[in-house]
Amino acid sequence: MYRLRRLAVRHARAFEWVYVRFEAALVALDPLFRRIGYHRLERPVAAVERLTKGLLFDCRMCGQCVLSSTGMSCPMNCPKTLRNGPCGGVRPGGFCEVDPQMRCVWVMAWEGAARMRDGARIGDVQPPVDRSLQGSSSWLRVAREKAAHPAGPPDAPRGTIARAFPQARAHEPAAAPLAVEPRPADRGPRR
Ligand code: SF4
Repeated sequence: MYRLRRLAVRHARAFEWVYVRFEAALVALDPLFRRIGYHRLERPVAAVERLTKGLLFDCRMCGQCVLSSTGMSCPMNCPKTLRNGPCGGVRPGGFCEVDPQMRCVWVMAWEGAARMRDGARIGDVQPPVDRSLQGSSSWLRVAREKAAHPAGPPDAPRGTIARAFPQARAHEPAAAPLAVEPRPADRGPRR
């Protein structure tokens, strides 16, 4: 619902506060989830997620939620489903090029991120959407992944991008590096 979606962005900081705690609870429940079986939980949890996030954020159940990096504005509502910023066609006043009645989800994302404590995450580069995850629960994925890697994936975010672009890496290694790039101090003298 468009109105609620805008409200979520206006109150992005409160939603961030709630989500941080909700995520911690999900991760803490990982041992229980594993006992029950994630596969058994998938359908009921996805149904609840679809209902609540559909109402609040017009969630499209992409299965790889990035709301906490996009100011609580779901990028899947962009008619072009852009996950890394707006296209070049944002209209005056911040309205969408394709749907002039709707504000650009990325303009809203920027406004929401400015209100959030961890809003700088809007600068994270998001890998392409994995369509095989469509319809699955992001909540359960977060619980599983964060419980397995409490400090985050070992080589994220560059490694995530590198894995997401295997063909690009084959043709243009610099566009999708395999390894984490060295810090300037580690590079040695310039020739
Ligand atoms: S990013 Fe994906 S999971 Fe998150 S609200 Fe949007 S469609 Fe739903």
